[in-house]
Amino acid sequence: MGRYIGSVCRLCRREDLKMFLKGDRCYSDKCAFDRRGYAPGQHGQRRRRKFSDYGIQLREKQKVKRMYGLLEGQFRGLFYKADRGRGITGTRLLIFLERRLDNVVYRLGFTDARAQGRQLVRHNHFMVNGQKMNIPSYLVKVGDVIEVREKSRKIAVISDAMDAVVRRGVPAWLELSKEQFRGTVKAYPTREELTMPIQEQLIVELYSK
Ligand code: SF4
Repeated sequence: MGRYIGSVCRLCRREDLKMFLKGDRCYSDKCAFDRRGYAPGQHGQRRRRKFSDYGIQLREKQKVKRMYGLLEGQFRGLFYKADRGRGITGTRLLIFLERRLDNVVYRLGFTDARAQGRQLVRHNHFMVNGQKMNIPSYLVKVGDVIEVREKSRKIAVISDAMDAVVRRGVPAWLELSKEQFRGTVKAYPTREELTMPIQEQLIVELYSK
């Protein structure tokens, strides 16, 4: 499956939002968004133009897709999955995004960015319910236990990330046992627990055209 390999800081600047895609750097004075808080490119410093309704919906979708590091096909697939079930499509979409294993290892503090979570999952550093799991798009379920594998516990990126997680905290729907390098899914997140500025209804409107 492909992935975006350009500069992620450009994405924050494009979406006009600090999306915390680069771990430690996002909290330092090297953050490109803090230093150059205008859109990237030759005309980036021009006043931001007014978007049409379609443009606003498109930007919202791009923002969320980039936040979670998904490509269009993966994101759209998750949207259709959310649309098929019962409940509010936009909320279901956000919950599906949160349940992805690459996001969960990031939320638990085993990695300091989702992209790093995706890479470490791919490289077999985690187990789910005692079994090796190397699929970043795996959707965790209530009761799932996610562990760093024994041989991976000394990897510097994981131990550094675990030290740094204090800064952002572990969400209430997950439980972390730091000493055991283990996290448990206590419940699915509620909409109120997802505090990033997202207007998911705009995404639903975009895909429903
Ligand atoms: Fe975004 Fe982090 Fe880059 Fe800042 S350092 S622009 S928050 S990815």
